[in-house]
Formats: sequence, C-alpha cells, structure tokens
Amino acid sequence: MVKPKTEEEIELLRENAIIVSKTLAEVGKWVAPGVTTARLNEVAETFIRDNGAIPSFLGFEGFPAATCMSVNDVVVHGFPSDYVLKEGDIVSADIGTLYKGYNGDSAYTFPVGEVDAATRKLLDVTKASLYKGIEAAVAGARTGDIGHAVQSYVESFGFSVVRELEGHGLGKKMHEAPGVPNFGRQGHGPRLPEGLVICIEPMVNMGGRGVYLARNGWAVHTSDHKKSAHYELTVVVRHGKAEQLSTFEYIESTGK
Ligand code: MG
Ligand code: MG
Repeated sequence: MVKPKTEEEIELLRENAIIVSKTLAEVGKWVAPGVTTARLNEVAETFIRDNGAIPSFLGFEGFPAATCMSVNDVVVHGFPSDYVLKEGDIVSADIGTLYKGYNGDSAYTFPVGEVDAATRKLLDVTKASLYKGIEAAVAGARTGDIGHAVQSYVESFGFSVVRELEGHGLGKKMHEAPGVPNFGRQGHGPRLPEGLVICIEPMVNMGGRGVYLARNGWAVHTSDHKKSAHYELTVVVRHGKAEQLSTFEYIESTGK
C-alpha cells in the first residue's frame, strides 16, 4: 500500500537523512588510491554509531557489513573488503541508518583519484538522472513518470539503466511500497500522494543493461564488466516540487 507519512514522521526521516548524508561525506574524505573498501566501511560505521544511529544494512537479510561498497563493474550490494582502491576506479557507497525507529538510505559514487573522461561522464549523467527523477516526483504523478524521466535522460547519452533493481518507499522499514523503477512509461504505475517518502536511486551502466548476481548472493555485476554508477537520495513527494531530505551538499563542499 502506498501511504504518505505524517509531518512528525517526515521530521524523523529527515534526521536519518542528514546522518546518512554526513556519513557519505565522511566516506568521501577517505576515498583515495591505496585505501581499502573495508576501511571506508569502518569510517562509515563509526560515524553512524557516533551519531547515535545504527547501520541498518548490517544483518539485513544476512548482509554482512554496515555499508555496501561497490567498485567499478559492481552495480550495488558489494561487500566491503580488503580490495585496495586504485587510481581511475569508482566506488559506490550505499549507506543506511536506523534512528528513532525510522530509516535513512542514500548512495554516492566516488571517483578514485583521476578517472577517464568516459567514467566522469557516467558519474555526471547518473547523478543528473537522479535529479531528473526528483523533478518528476510531484504529488499526483506516478512512479512511471519518475522512471521515464530517469531512463530517457540516461539513454540519450548512450548509457543504460539497470531494470532488476529499483528505488522504494522509506519509513519504519527500509523498503516500503511503492517500488520506484528507473525505467517506465509516463502515466503508469502507482500514483504518488503528497507526503510520500521515497528513495530514488538510478543504477546506470556504461555498456549494456544486463547484470548478474555474484556467487555470494549479493553483489550485482554488469554482464559486460563495464562500469556502473549509483546515486540515491530520499525525497518527500510534495505538490509542485519534491522536497529533498538527504543531500549531497556535504560531499560536494569537499569537491568530490
Ligand atoms: Mg541505498
Ligand atoms: Mg535504497
């Protein structure tokens, strides 16, 4: 059931969103050649706990870490590991919190040192497609309007959208209705009421849209092993214009 949140609930979701946003920025400060993704995970987990929150991914359906760290051809759900980041890699940090009974959930893909022009383009287009999705997330619109906005923007650059995974409602549970696909047709899908809180999270591949699940049952890889980027923000559906709860401001003020 697609159910809007009360303003009191939205305030709690906002507190979570700010913790997650700041956590992503902390991670970003550490992203550099020579650093392991396990170290990035540790930075995130410490920051979340220091802020009185719980890393909601840890133990979620058996997930073994506080964060997802997805490098290069890993689309999402990568395990933090002793993999040492190298110049030219990209790493997506996906972070969730549980605080005062509500959830936070946002993601950002960081370049490691200098990346090539095609990779830079992938990052820029994926992030911009998220904002296209947010623009479409107005009261009275449908989930298909968001998906269409993301997909048409991404495909106009020759990149492709992953279809097997999608955004979602957010509240007491990390994944609530409705599902928010990153592809679709305008005017289709559940209608978005004022006050609905959703995560929009385009996953965009440099090559084909095909993906497969790794043998560990979690990491989603691109079938052609080309790079994939992922950005996620939490918004409240409002009349006229969605209201962002999480933000990349803390990251972007550091120049990443
Ligand atoms: Mg997420
Ligand atoms: Mg999410």
